[in-house]
Order: sequence, then C-alpha cells, then structure tokens
Amino acid sequence: MISQLFPVKKDYKYYDDDKFHDECGIFGVYSTEKIDTLSLIQFGLFALQHRGQEACGFSVLRDGFILSHKSEGLVLDCFRKISNSKCYQGNAVIGHTRYSTEGGQSKKNIQPFFGKDYNGKSTISIVHNGNLVNAKYIRKKLESEGINFISESSDSEVILRLIQKYLDNNSSLEEAIKKTTIYIKGAYSVIVLMDNKIAAFRDPNGIRPLCYGMLDDKSYIFSSETCGIDSVGGFYIRDLFPGEIIIADKKSIQFSVLRKKEHTRKRICSFEYIYFSRPDSLIENINVYEIRERCGEKLYEQHPVKADVVIGVPDSGVPAAIGYSKVSGIPFKPILVKNKYIGRSFILPKQEMREKIVNLKLNPILDEIKGKHVVIIDDSIVRGTTSRRLVYILRKAGAKKIHFRSASPPIIAPCYLGVDTPRKKDLISYNHMKKNIEKILDVDSLEFLSMENLIEILGGYNYCFGCFTGNYPVHKKNDIFTYEKK
Ligand code: SF4
Repeated sequence: MISQLFPVKKDYKYYDDDKFHDECGIFGVYSTEKIDTLSLIQFGLFALQHRGQEACGFSVLRDGFILSHKSEGLVLDCFRKISNSKCYQGNAVIGHTRYSTEGGQSKKNIQPFFGKDYNGKSTISIVHNGNLVNAKYIRKKLESEGINFISESSDSEVILRLIQKYLDNNSSLEEAIKKTTIYIKGAYSVIVLMDNKIAAFRDPNGIRPLCYGMLDDKSYIFSSETCGIDSVGGFYIRDLFPGEIIIADKKSIQFSVLRKKEHTRKRICSFEYIYFSRPDSLIENINVYEIRERCGEKLYEQHPVKADVVIGVPDSGVPAAIGYSKVSGIPFKPILVKNKYIGRSFILPKQEMREKIVNLKLNPILDEIKGKHVVIIDDSIVRGTTSRRLVYILRKAGAKKIHFRSASPPIIAPCYLGVDTPRKKDLISYNHMKKNIEKILDVDSLEFLSMENLIEILGGYNYCFGCFTGNYPVHKKNDIFTYEKK
C-alpha cells in the first residue's frame, strides 16, 4: 500500500521530514565603533538559516542600551517586519535562528533572552545553541528562590537567569559566566551581550560548534559556522576551544578558560559533518564537504557494487555520491531533482492526495533511470520513511536494481544534546537488522558506512558519536552535581 509508505504526523507538517534537526544557529558581531549591525546580523543569520527555520531574533547594543526584535518565521520574514531600521544600528549585535525542541514552539521561547543584572543596572542578552540536560532541575531551584521565568521551558533562559543571579557587585561578567557553568550540564555554545562588551563560550566538551573571526581590526565575529563569517566578508580565525570563554570590549579581546584544560575534552557532534553544517563551512578547521566526499569514497571501498549510475539524495547525500563515483568509476548524475522552494509546513492534504504527490520534493529524470542499475546515497537513514519513498520513486521510474547506501553508520539512539531526533523506538536501525531493513526499503542491497571508517575519516575519537553508539559525552542520569544557593 502506497499510503503505508508515507506515514504523516498528526500536525500540519505534511512532508514528514525524516531527518535529524539541529536546534539553532547563533551569530554575533562586536566592534569598537559603530557598524551596520542590522545588515550584519541579517546576513549572518541568513547564512545560518539551515540550522533553524521556525523563528529568529536579535539584540543590538546601541549607546549602552540593548534593543531586541524577534518573530516567528524565516530570517527574511523577521527582518521584513522591522519598521524603524535606524534604531537597530549600534556597535554590537547577537542573533539566533531557531528550530524548536526543548521548550516547544511557544513564541515565548524565541531567542535572544534578555534581563537585568542582579542590581538592576545593566541589561544582558544571550543566544544559545545546544541543550542542557539538567535545565529543569536548575529552573525549579531558581523558581523556589523567587526568580521568574518568561519562557515556558527554555533551557537557554536558565543560562540567562543564572548569569543574572551571579552578576552582583562582586562579580564581573566573566566570573558570573564561570559560576554559571559550574552548574549547567550538557551542550552549550553561547554568545552574551552586556555593558558594551560581548562574551562567547562553549561547554567543556565543545559539543556544538562556535567559531570566531574578524571583520576588520576593530570588529570581532562569532558564528555557529564559518559560512556566517564568510557571509559578512569576515575572515575565520579558529573555533573556540571546549571550555573556552572569549570576551571583547572597547579596550581588548581576552581569552580565558571556564575549566582547566585537564577537565575539558573535544567531543564535537560528528553529525555536524554528516548532515547539519553547510558543505562550504569549516568546523574545527575541517572542511565539511571533504568529509562527506570521503565518506562516499570509503563506502565504495567497503562494499563495491556494479551499477550504471550513482545518485546522491539532495543536498547532503550529493558530496558522498561524488566521492563514490570518483573511486568506483560509476558515473555520478544529478538526476534526482529537488524542489528548492519546498517549505517545512504544508497544509495536511487528504490521504488520496498524499498518494498522488509523492514526487513533490524530489523528482527523477526518468530517461536516466529506466532500466538502469542505480546506487543511491543518502547522508543517513533515520526512520526510513524518506528512504522508502525514494526507492518507490526510483522503482516507479523503471530502475532495474537499487543499491541503497548510507554515508553514516546506523543510527541506533536519539540525541539529547541539542538535536531534534525521533524516539529510539522510531529509529529503523534500532529496531531492525540490516537484512530486514533491505526488505522494508525494498532495495537489492543496503550498506552503511562503518563506525571504523567514520572514525578514520574524522581523524580520531574526539567526537560525539552518541546516536551511532548510545555513548554520550555527557551522561544524563549519572551526572551528579550540587547546586548552591546564593
Ligand atoms: S548524539 Fe552526539 S553525534 Fe548524535 S546528533 Fe547528538 S551530539 Fe551529534
């Protein structure tokens, strides 16, 4: 039954997007002089749009005051709603593009968050990418101390409220951030704006990316990915180290640590290379495109197969398909055509209509497929619903044999470190052995990139491989910590 191939969530999202989703991109610029903050944040967030499409917001530092604007929708929708653009010109700006998970889709959870310091003198604003595993616990504690929260359940607001709490007469912003990070556990890359200074910091495992660069000798840039820095004409310097804090103000830029080096380790999310990041970005100074191409090369070396054509599932499966083609000599052809304008939200059509529009997002060039032996490569297989749909499309187009390849190992566990994933029970590789998945997908053969090869391609073990292994750099249950009242 075709209808069984296309299960749809009960909500309005028709195109059941069978992928992991990153939960946000963050961007910030600080200059010692006035700059075009509105254009810079618009371009920076636009470059990071792939990291979140549900909401967007920014805070500008202008003459010592912080002004914010945020709204639902894509980056350009948010900026289109600004009526008085002049008031958002200043010398520093931070922004956020959101994909909601922790805290849901409430408007109250849109970042940046802002508030006053402990003494009510300074305004502070923050943007955060990641997920705290102990946010609920800290929030409860803070609420019991009488601290109010605006959002319904945002873990980012927990970081803000802790920093606010520790910003008393005796603590600088740096000290308040250091105290805050003693209590928070999980994945966090954060940019803070306050009192004519900007601070950026990263958790001791460096799970979510954050890099910095410069626009000119007076302006510093922080961005989730280097494509953000490129988009404003800046140059990349390096990624923040795990557990590092950088603070820039009118006088200088200071590099400091939240933890001693021996208490930090690099465990950046390996899925950034597989799917999340843009292929034109560098993450930890490693070219994302090259990693994807090498995954394709290794896939062929692992499991050679004879075929007429290699296809990559647009967009993130394409570099692996090119790599596979290079090593195998099987021609790569971009014959799965993607509708680039498809959004995430479709009005739910009736079942009858759903069965007719399976080619809405991806449509094959029929003559290139009919009677052919096809290798099709996707970056990963999550629930398997997209893969089944693709195989159905190719079979309908007349493919004689279909060999499916995943450019990453089987996904067997969900993520709780800042990525929206299906539950374990919905992950096809958690529930089924490879032979069974072959049958479910209706393919002639199925192979995944091995863990050994992924580790070799990435150059070691300094990564989180949690969704492939079930072992995470931060342990949700065993993480014992104490929380001290002020
Ligand atoms: S479990 Fe680790 S590797 Fe997987 S998505 Fe989450 S942070 Fe990335």
